[in-house]
Amino acid sequence: MTTLNLSLTAEQRALQAGVAEICKRYPGEYWRELDQKREYPDAFVEELTRAGYLAALIPPEYGGAGLGLFEAGLILEEINRSGGNAGACHAQMYIMGTLLRHGSEAQKDAYLPKIASGELRLQAFAVTEPNAGSDTTKLQTTAVRRGDRYVVNGQKIFISRVLQSDLMLLLARTTPLAAVTRKTDGLSVFLVDIRSARGMEVRPLRMMMNHSTNALFFDNMEVPAEGLVGEEGKGFSYILDGMNAERILVASDSIGDGRWFVERAVAYSSQRVVFGRPIGANQGVQFAIARAHMAVAAADLMRNKAAALFDAGEPCGPEANMAKYLAAEAAWDAGNACIDCHGGYGYAEEYDVERKFREARLYKTAPINQNLVLAYVGEHVLGLPRSY
Ligand SMILES: Cc1cc2nc3c(=O)[nH]c(=O)nc-3n(C[C@H](O)[C@H](O)[C@H](O)COP(=O)(O)OP(=O)(O)OC[C@H]3O[C@@H](n4cnc5c(N)ncnc54)[C@H](O)[C@@H]3O)c2cc1C
Repeated sequence: MTTLNLSLTAEQRALQAGVAEICKRYPGEYWRELDQKREYPDAFVEELTRAGYLAALIPPEYGGAGLGLFEAGLILEEINRSGGNAGACHAQMYIMGTLLRHGSEAQKDAYLPKIASGELRLQAFAVTEPNAGSDTTKLQTTAVRRGDRYVVNGQKIFISRVLQSDLMLLLARTTPLAAVTRKTDGLSVFLVDIRSARGMEVRPLRMMMNHSTNALFFDNMEVPAEGLVGEEGKGFSYILDGMNAERILVASDSIGDGRWFVERAVAYSSQRVVFGRPIGANQGVQFAIARAHMAVAAADLMRNKAAALFDAGEPCGPEANMAKYLAAEAAWDAGNACIDCHGGYGYAEEYDVERKFREARLYKTAPINQNLVLAYVGEHVLGLPRSY
């Protein structure tokens, strides 16, 4: 039976403390300056990588720590709870899983040890397209086999960290939609070596938050056939089974954000005196923060359940989706409570609240929007009729 631990072990606390120690060296000023310039937190990611945290999920035989998804979540949560933005580096943890589960021995031997050591970065995951959106099976990027290579044509939108990665996982159609029985068939996953890729244009997009996001254009980009991950045409299922890990890790980012907002709100409301008393003594202020704390704590429990199931190899789709939804909502409500209690200062850049507010908002939309989580729960968990 899968067990759900209600308190952290000494090792898990040490892991959290180790991450917190690194985060202390990257305070609000660091993230704020990068946010203004829309620059990547290279120094932070480099230090986190050198300390081995980004290789948490890579098995020891490939040079990683071989930890579970629960521990990986604790690492990301701690980064966001400290005021940083784990969105800059969380993707390697879940993208790597697709390579680990479905890659060939040759691919794993060639790449995983270098990813674990930090020699290579695999941080980009190219799925979303302008003409398909959330309806992934309608994606139009094609990969056509020509001898010992595939030729890729099409475009992607909102693909993050391409310019900060050596490797990218790409989902493309290898069999036309009209020629497959199930729309999920005929999609394939490729490991693209960005350093040697020709025929890929990367156009950075300035987004609401600092997220290193791009539009990609493929014009006869050639990928060697050995870049195919697993079997041709099975890519959708490979991507799907990485999605539970992604949802649980993103939920961890949100839980970290929620905790940061609550801690900041408590600290500020306890010392800001208006009408002769700390504003936190007013129930209009206090209750919003208390509600936010409870929602974050509840999302934390769901995230822990999802991670425990994942780590035990049990099905965890409902829990992973619910954790992502609940955590993103909890962080958003905590962000609003935090801005509200800060009054005008909540909008001042130097307080970091507005930056964290923008960063936390993303997880209501990506990697999957909240409506599609509700549709998943309605249809797949509760058995209600399908809407799409
Ligand atoms: C900063 C950022 C970084 C990103 N990074 C990546 C990345 O690295 N790789 C990647 O592949 N993608 C990435 N994305 C893309 C992200 O995953 C998508 O934006 C998201 O999945 C939604 O797709 P869409 O934008 O096309 O919205 P659409 O599919 O057009 O949907 C728009 C809205 O319509 C609603 N909606 C749509 N369909 C339904 C329905 N059936 N029922 C009810 N409501 C519905 C939802 O509210 C949804 O938010 C990123 C996005 C952002 C903003």
